[in-house]
Amino acid sequence: MSRECPSVAELIAAVKSLTRATDGTFQTAWKDSFIDPFHCCEQGGYIYIDLPVPSPLTRAFITRAPKGATMNQRTAGPNASIDLNSPGINQNNVILVANFHTHPLAAVAPVNGSPEPSRSDMENAYFRGVPGIVVSRSGVYAYGPERRESLLNPKGYPASVPQGPLNFRLVVQNPPGPPTVVPGLQWPEGIPGARGAVAEDEGEAAGSDDLGPAGDVIEVEWSSEGVEYGDKLVENRRYECPYITRKTTIGSLH
Ligand SMILES: [Zn+2]
Repeated sequence: MSRECPSVAELIAAVKSLTRATDGTFQTAWKDSFIDPFHCCEQGGYIYIDLPVPSPLTRAFITRAPKGATMNQRTAGPNASIDLNSPGINQNNVILVANFHTHPLAAVAPVNGSPEPSRSDMENAYFRGVPGIVVSRSGVYAYGPERRESLLNPKGYPASVPQGPLNFRLVVQNPPGPPTVVPGLQWPEGIPGARGAVAEDEGEAAGSDDLGPAGDVIEVEWSSEGVEYGDKLVENRRYECPYITRKTTIGSLH
C-alpha cells in the first residue's frame, strides 16, 4: 500500500517551501517568534502530508499551534515553552509526520537560551511517536524517532515508541539555511551596533530570487475532528539546564 512516512531530512528535501528563505514555513514561524525588540515567544505547529503517502512527495499541509508564553528576549526568565499536545487539521486523507517549534532566545548572557532541542523535547518526540523539528539560530534540528512508523490516528499522534537516543541532527545549517534574521526585532542580531547586526530591511530585500515553486506548503485551518489525544506533555526547553541562575532584575542595554 503506501510508502512509509518521510524522515525530517526527506521531508525537507521534498517540500522546498518548508525551508524557503523569505516566507517558508520555518522562516515564518521564526519571524512570528519575535513580538517586539524586547519580547519573543516560541512558535510551532504540525506538518501533515497526503495519505496514502505519495511518491514522489511534493507537498505538505501546515497547521500552527497557539504561540508559547511571552518571554523577555534580553533577561533570564522562566522556562520557555509551547504546547504541542493538540495536533489537528481541517483536511481529510492526511497524516501527521512531524511537529516543529522555534527556540528564539539568544545563547548569550544573561539569557543563555539553547538553540538545540532540549532533553524534554527529545523525550516528548518518542512519547508522541513522530519526529520533532527545532528552528533556531543554528539552523533546523531533527530529533526523536527517525520517522513516523504507525498509520493509526493519522491526524494525531500515534502510540508511543520506545525511547531511543537522546540526540539530534542538524539537518539545515544556518547560514545559509533558515532562519534568517528578523531585523529590529531579534535580539541581539537585530539591534543596530550589536555583534552581527544587519542592515535595515535586509530580510525583506533578499529572497525574491531564491524561491522554489510556490504552493508546495499549504496552510490549513486547525480542527480536532478525527484526532485522538493522548497524555499531555510539557515542552520546556531549559529542562536540561536547571543550574542557570534566574535573574529577576531587568537588564540594561549598552
Ligand atoms: Zn524546545
